[in-house]
Amino acid sequence: MTENRRKVFEIIELSKKPLTASEIFEKLDVDLSTVYRALNFLEKEGFIRSFSVGNGPRYFFKKGVHFHFTVCVKCSELTPFDECSDQLLQEIRKKYGFEEQEHVFLVYGVCPKCGR
Ligand SMILES: [Zn+2]
Ligand SMILES: [Zn+2]
Repeated sequence: MTENRRKVFEIIELSKKPLTASEIFEKLDVDLSTVYRALNFLEKEGFIRSFSVGNGPRYFFKKGVHFHFTVCVKCSELTPFDECSDQLLQEIRKKYGFEEQEHVFLVYGVCPKCGR
């Protein structure tokens, strides 16, 4: 892996939340297209995964983790929560014979700030 790809991966790996390309860019001394190329490589090679929120930016996170977030449909803010539904995952295993490895749980709605 090249130096830049390794640095991009390190930032994602150490982050407690999914990051956008521009958030990663802010932490590095390289241009944005280098960040995008590194992200494409890392995703293709299976080191990271990504998702996007509506028409908003794409978020990148390390493969093999679990993330739980509420997503505000008005201001696009992501807020983490700790609750993890082990029971639901057990039921999925029982019912569909599916072995869970990682999960991302996004709950879309309106945040307290925007609901006011
Ligand atoms: Zn909001
Ligand atoms: Zn979880």
